[in-house]
Amino acid sequence: MAIKPATQIGDPAIRARSVALASASSPSTKKIARDLIDSMRSYNLVGMAAPQIGINKRIFVTEIRQTRTRNPKTEDPVRVFVNPRIVAVSRKQAIDYEGCGSVSHGGLFGAVRRSYIVTVTAYGLDGKKFTLRAEGLLARIIQHETDHLNGVVFLDRMKDMGSLMDRELLRGA
Ligand SMILES: [Zn+2]
Repeated sequence: MAIKPATQIGDPAIRARSVALASASSPSTKKIARDLIDSMRSYNLVGMAAPQIGINKRIFVTEIRQTRTRNPKTEDPVRVFVNPRIVAVSRKQAIDYEGCGSVSHGGLFGAVRRSYIVTVTAYGLDGKKFTLRAEGLLARIIQHETDHLNGVVFLDRMKDMGSLMDRELLRGA
């Protein structure tokens, strides 16, 4: 188990464009995935991308765990996406609040408009390519994490900076 420090905005790793992994099933890829999962859980995040632990490779992980405030229907098991590519997005969009472990350690939230449904292709740690159609929160996380691989953070996607909110205020809202 290895919890890595969450890289913060201002660190060049967050703004760099990450490069593809040569192998999805190699021991080094599996180690990055393991570290990402451990770190994501430790920081209580629903997704984490390699640049967030200072590695500019195209891999991210997601996991939607149940919380007191989260709708149980949104629960989703841990998933690993190596060399992911969003191949289709719905015309339907949704606006919701997002935070990020690399933006003030998850302390800031803002409203971001994103596609409601996405189709993503990626490789699993078994080296096999898969296609996933995701909607709602999982679709949002996949778009947020894919952005990280291209040096983009949710602040860049915000149209209304006036919606920025401290985490504690959002919880109380
Ligand atoms: Zn993030």
